[in-house]
Amino acid sequence: MSALRPIPRPGILDIDPYVPGESTLPSGLKPVKLSSNETPLGPSPKAIAAYKAAADDLERYPDGPSTALRNAIARRYGLDASRIVCGAGSDEILNLLAHAYLGPGDEGLFTEHGFLVYRIAILGNGATPIVAKESNLTTDVDAILAKVSPRTKIVFVANPNNPTGTYLPIGEIRRLREKLRPDILLVLDAAYAEYVSRNDYEAGIELVATTDNTVMTRTFSKIHGLASLRVGWVYCPADIADVLNRIRGPFNLSSAAIAAGAAAIADTGHEEAARRHNETWLAWLSEEIAKLGLTVTPSVANFLLIHFPADKAKGAVACDEFLKTKAIILRRVAGYGLPNALRMTVGTEEENKRVVAALREFMAR
Ligand SMILES: *Cc1c(COP(=O)(O)O)cnc(C)c1O
Repeated sequence: MSALRPIPRPGILDIDPYVPGESTLPSGLKPVKLSSNETPLGPSPKAIAAYKAAADDLERYPDGPSTALRNAIARRYGLDASRIVCGAGSDEILNLLAHAYLGPGDEGLFTEHGFLVYRIAILGNGATPIVAKESNLTTDVDAILAKVSPRTKIVFVANPNNPTGTYLPIGEIRRLREKLRPDILLVLDAAYAEYVSRNDYEAGIELVATTDNTVMTRTFSKIHGLASLRVGWVYCPADIADVLNRIRGPFNLSSAAIAAGAAAIADTGHEEAARRHNETWLAWLSEEIAKLGLTVTPSVANFLLIHFPADKAKGAVACDEFLKTKAIILRRVAGYGLPNALRMTVGTEEENKRVVAALREFMAR
């Protein structure tokens, strides 16, 4: 063998590969899977029909600019379709933004318990990840500003954040934007925006419309129930849309994804049903789990962060193992700096009741 071999660029081998929520059990039993924040209601029946109809034209390339999908999104939110760029999940969008605006010597900033894809996207482009502390498991604008350096090029903020479920009011987001240098791109990742019912929350559409340096990413993987199809989008200033359109794959969404996404976002009734289901069961779960003596971080999204006692026998790892014997899969979040917590997605009524019963049994052991 030759001593010479291909070497990846600096940063790549510093990446810990993303570990998705588990989906199978050693026993092979069909699990209650509440580990990836998917919707218990499934996608709109209209989206499923559109997906099936796409099977008739598989030999054709898709429409490269995802026109039908961008138009459907623009109609739904009153946006300029030319400033929307679609991606194979918002993961692709986040990576395209990092690819366009970060390189060796640059810094990308995110928060202590922020979404792990940011670190991967930053390192993957040879830049340096910088982490800002959170306060009370919540994004802290002053802590972010304290970490800004002349090398900072992007700040990623998930609002609401995953896995904490907490959010920042739009006033704080505006304050962050005002205090950041104008050449720093602010990425607002609003993957869970549809679930939030707080008067002081905004996903960021207006901030994008009124500044040159803010973008908002969204996904069809959560409330729209199309995680398998990989559909996401970003709303941006015109020149940033132009940049992304130069570097994205020319056919980055499949025809089926474009058609199903367009049908899903037009079905506001289905979205509303998913929101109502979540509102009911998020409140119920928060209350019932707290009654068991566990601490639950107040969440505005479709999942809950549950904190366990310090006693190892009653800790997050022991609980996760116990729940798996009951065919229940939640999400370990040690990779997010939360070794003694588990994240639970809001499920169906039956699933939610099963989890609470199992947690009760665990705490009583
Ligand atoms: C789930 C999630 C996304 C969505 O990712 P997709 O690639 O669109 O499936 C983005 N950001 C956060 C914070 C998430 O939790």
